[in-house]
Amino acid sequence: MSRQRKTIHFDTNPFICEHCGLTVPSPLSGTKNRNHCCHCLHSKHVDMKIGDRRSGCRGTMEPIGLWVKDSEECAVIHRCQKCGFIRTNRIAGDDNEVVLFTLAARLITQLPFPAKVALEKIERQQMGGEHV
Ligand SMILES: [Zn+2]
Ligand SMILES: [Zn+2]
Repeated sequence: MSRQRKTIHFDTNPFICEHCGLTVPSPLSGTKNRNHCCHCLHSKHVDMKIGDRRSGCRGTMEPIGLWVKDSEECAVIHRCQKCGFIRTNRIAGDDNEVVLFTLAARLITQLPFPAKVALEKIERQQMGGEHV
């Protein structure tokens, strides 16, 4: 290995996703760093810090959930299948909405308690707690 790449590298070129095999196009304007596949949302553990490509792990980063940071920004939570490293990645404008929705739905449908009961409880608390 004689190739040395020490510069901070942002993906601006199309690449083939190692998980689903589809071509990931160049990021839309406004997306600086394409760090996950827009089709299956999988990523690769290559960074120690964002964009540095210095991690030797190279494990597949699986999307395990969503993080709604604020009304403007939502991120995918990625977990490395090889070493367990967890990190968040901002959602890109052309990310697969079905996969994003499935991630969100998985959280609601796989709660360790019945969601219906919890919702009814919250509803009761809100109705009883607020006197306008
Ligand atoms: Zn993919
Ligand atoms: Zn890893």
